[in-house]
Amino acid sequence: MKILVLNCGSSSIKYQFFSLVDNSLIAKGIVEKIGMKGSFLKHEKQDGQKVIFEGEIMDHKIGIEYILGVLSSAKHGCISRLEEISAVGHRVVHGGELFTESKLVDEDVINALEKYTELAPLHNPPNLKGIYALRALLPSIPQVAVFDTAFHTTMPVYSYMYAIPYALYKKYGIRRYGFHGTSHRFVSMRACEILGRSCQGLKVITCHLGNGTSVCAIKDGHSVDTSMGFTPVEGLIMGTRSGDIDMGAVSYIMDKEKIGTKSASVLFNKHSGLLGISGLSSDMREIREGADKGDERCQLALKMFDYRVKKYIGSYAAAMGGLDVLIFTGGIGENSDTTRSGICEGLEFLGIDLDESINQGLRGKEAVISKKDARVKVMVVPTNEELMIAIDTQKIIEHLKN
Ligand code: AMP
Repeated sequence: MKILVLNCGSSSIKYQFFSLVDNSLIAKGIVEKIGMKGSFLKHEKQDGQKVIFEGEIMDHKIGIEYILGVLSSAKHGCISRLEEISAVGHRVVHGGELFTESKLVDEDVINALEKYTELAPLHNPPNLKGIYALRALLPSIPQVAVFDTAFHTTMPVYSYMYAIPYALYKKYGIRRYGFHGTSHRFVSMRACEILGRSCQGLKVITCHLGNGTSVCAIKDGHSVDTSMGFTPVEGLIMGTRSGDIDMGAVSYIMDKEKIGTKSASVLFNKHSGLLGISGLSSDMREIREGADKGDERCQLALKMFDYRVKKYIGSYAAAMGGLDVLIFTGGIGENSDTTRSGICEGLEFLGIDLDESINQGLRGKEAVISKKDARVKVMVVPTNEELMIAIDTQKIIEHLKN
């Protein structure tokens, strides 16, 4: 079975094409600058062969036409007919309270997603554009929506509610939803596989540390808490997002700077986080370089980043009544040994004890990086959200056939 996975953003479409006979990636690529000057598609085959097509890609439908064109082209493609695509899996950011698992796209799903655009105004509309475009171009191919929020729908009510008037939850759905769910689910399942353990009975904390960052507490395979909330701005310090902040400070800044909600949102989403503190960059590698050269604000940004993750690990261990497995993933979690050390330092009282001879220099590879006799298994597990989406899509399609 061959599955196309699409991640449609406002001006880009990332895609990966899988053969699920052996979970292998056949091709991947990205359409960028949709609706702008200089739009292009970059396509890469499994053997590393790359090709770029420039063109007027004015909307998502044209972008998807480009993708289908290159996948089925005689020269650069990997299928001879589009019918070889068994199904399309979409990354959908917000599934609200309704979608507790991945779903076959039908009219009801589309209507619900339209409703949830209010909750994710930046993300759900482009996700929907991808779904509409595929419906128009390949109406007979089934589509599956895989939600970033679905994994967290198992959070207990006392964990997802904000202490605000209850009527606002009922009226507008103001609560914590969490995001990155597909990644947290994938790495926690993969860690259990690697350890040869059932997720039943295990208390796991997953740290997805990339440009966006979040931590998740997983008990018996179910998310019981996560650091992102109503929007992806809550929680850890991110590339450009502030993470947790006193809302009193938010209204104070808005008053003093005479800015409205739109500008405040830009301030806390785009100009804060590592970028805001360092004044240099949102990219961890550049911050690390700056810190090594003695830049004090970069050094502070690193300290704050590690400290915030450490606090969440402590609180989630308390929330679950213990900890068995701690997982690092995402661009920073998978690649930065110094960040992993900085976070784990001082957590020996919890049973976290890194083996630096394994941790140092480890990049992008699955490994257990804790000492053999440590109580908590600390692991690096590279995430693969696209494969998880493809696997979910396959399961749903197979279920349809039976
Ligand atoms: P992601 O959003 O998962 O692609 O992660 C992006 C983040 O990973 C950026 O902050 C990068 O600087 C960081 N990153 C990627 N490679 C490394 C590395 N070798 N060491 C430290 N950080 C890295």
